Amino acid sequence: TSLFAAVELAPRDPILGLTEQFNADTRSNKVNLGVGVYYNDEGKIPLLGAVRKAELARIEAAAARGYLPIEGIVAYNQLVQKLLLGADSPLIAEGRALTAQSLGGTGALKVGADFLKRLLPGAKVAISNPSWENHRALFEGAGFEVVNYPYYDAATHGVDFDGMLAALRSYPANTVVVLHACCHNPTGVDLTVDQWHQVVAAVKETGLVPFLDIAYQGFGDGIDADAAAVRLFADANLTFLISSSFSKSFSLYGERVGALTLVAANREESARVLSQLKRVIRTNYSNPPTHGGTVVAHVLGQPELRAEWETELAGMRDRIRDMRKALVQKLKDRGVERNFDFVLKQRGMFSYSGLTADQVDRLREEHAVYAIGTGRICVAALNSRNIDAVADGIAAVLK
Ligand code: PLP
Repeated sequence: TSLFAAVELAPRDPILGLTEQFNADTRSNKVNLGVGVYYNDEGKIPLLGAVRKAELARIEAAAARGYLPIEGIVAYNQLVQKLLLGADSPLIAEGRALTAQSLGGTGALKVGADFLKRLLPGAKVAISNPSWENHRALFEGAGFEVVNYPYYDAATHGVDFDGMLAALRSYPANTVVVLHACCHNPTGVDLTVDQWHQVVAAVKETGLVPFLDIAYQGFGDGIDADAAAVRLFADANLTFLISSSFSKSFSLYGERVGALTLVAANREESARVLSQLKRVIRTNYSNPPTHGGTVVAHVLGQPELRAEWETELAGMRDRIRDMRKALVQKLKDRGVERNFDFVLKQRGMFSYSGLTADQVDRLREEHAVYAIGTGRICVAALNSRNIDAVADGIAAVLK
């Protein structure tokens, strides 16, 4: 009999499953709001002008494709630290921050999880309820038991902050807490700066291990504003981990460009930690690929291209905000009585719309508008051509 005879079929990824269903749908007015990608007003994934220029420069340079160091491109890693911690961060000057280029934000989480499992074999990992659908599986795959801390409060369309804080305070020391630094996926609901201060205090008192996940820097309120939480942790003199990604902010999804950054107590400790991270990486995929990291480092390192990128990023951010405003207004125009103003307060690509699973089913079946069963919609997939159809559909299922 075959070696694989007893292998069971794994459940299919719910979001990819929805996309398959969408692709098979023959209705010409169909709209897919189930995705996790930014589309421009033409409904396309943009190739940023700054990226294009950096790519052309790279082709022109005809650089050889040798192996990168295990931790990736040195200049890239330094630029990542500045973007996250601020160009003038004393942590960088003191050599306390260390960064490894990673295969997207997912790769950063995985390398960080494997490293933490060796360091804290008995620790649990706490993620928000709800969280990015891969967080639980990823940390469980690294051998951790994963628990949820309260986060989203459906009644207020906000954060159950008291519940969250109480949960954080109840954990044993060294529990790893995964925190969405900005633009929470899937809800779009973020903490205020004042609430972040309280989280930092709770983390410090309880001796938790913060793992900040920042996959949407620049999609909320701006590059520096979105790093506010990261910088509060830095200012608090804590040791912590950060996974970051350029998938969205550079529209480089398929190039797998991210980074794992750790903040250690001092320069010497940071060197020892990096040496261990390198072992994790070496035994996983040896070293990262060259293209995406080179392009991002080129853009971030050249003032003109960087300015162009910042303008393009602001354009994506503003377009999402315009779509939020337009959706709320169009629902009002259609006589929808429910107050959707909470959509304006949410940040990033997503919105927990408050639609029930039944309403999401009707939206798909009767109006060809695809959303996630939890009610999550990708606001970054709305555009001037599909938004009326979406508003019509939502208004109809709410009647
Ligand atoms: N973390 C969060 C919260 C995300 O939403 C995502 C992507 O959707 C990631 C990490 C992973 O990003 P990447 O595609 O760069 O691996």
